[in-house]
Amino acid sequence: MDLFPQDYCFVCHEPIRPTIGWKAIFSKEKASYICPPCQSKFETIIGETCRICCRPFARLDEKFRDGDLCHDCFRWEKDEHWKGLLDKNHSLFLYNEFLKEVIARFKFRGDYVLAKIFVEFFRNKLDEIKADFYVPIPLSKERLYERGFNQAAALLSETGLPATEILTRIHSEKQSKKSRTERIHLLQVFQLTPSVQLQEKKVVLIDDIYTTGSTLRHAAKLLKEAGAASVQSITLAR
Ligand SMILES: [Zn+2]
Ligand SMILES: [Zn+2]
Repeated sequence: MDLFPQDYCFVCHEPIRPTIGWKAIFSKEKASYICPPCQSKFETIIGETCRICCRPFARLDEKFRDGDLCHDCFRWEKDEHWKGLLDKNHSLFLYNEFLKEVIARFKFRGDYVLAKIFVEFFRNKLDEIKADFYVPIPLSKERLYERGFNQAAALLSETGLPATEILTRIHSEKQSKKSRTERIHLLQVFQLTPSVQLQEKKVVLIDDIYTTGSTLRHAAKLLKEAGAASVQSITLAR
């Protein structure tokens, strides 16, 4: 019997020292995927944040803030076409250099296994939100072919919660090269396959990174138009 099963950190590949105790000996229920030094490089979002997008105010100049909103959200909410669509985004970590590197590996090298690192954080947040449907933001067909998997769907599937895949991309992601204004005013990027009844339901969108919030708001728009009572999102980083 292997008394102290050895785990290796998924990020730095160094051995993770096992916790010595009865629990560690008799069960592997709390497997570690990341070593404490690597884990300490992830910066959780703490303190006061923008009511909608979860942007931390601590690092934001007062002039980019409008009450409990950051200036970006304030602009979205001022726009008749976009206001009130995304109720709240929850981001787990700050998109620092370390996380950037981990996500890049996760995305481009197809390290599906890296999803395991984040699963506990993700599950805790999802438990807190308690939605009726969990909808991963889809990749375009080209992207999916390039990467082999959708990291948002991978994160969700690791939590064991069912994915409701009702969105599909209708435009190419090449749009991301366009400016913010161009992107915002483009027509819908997703289409909805209404295979579930969304009326009065609580929906959570899953994506990897919150940047401009444009993708999530496009998705939220369709879901709200189909009757969803609330649309929140959970992203790994922002
Ligand atoms: Zn490590
Ligand atoms: Zn905001």
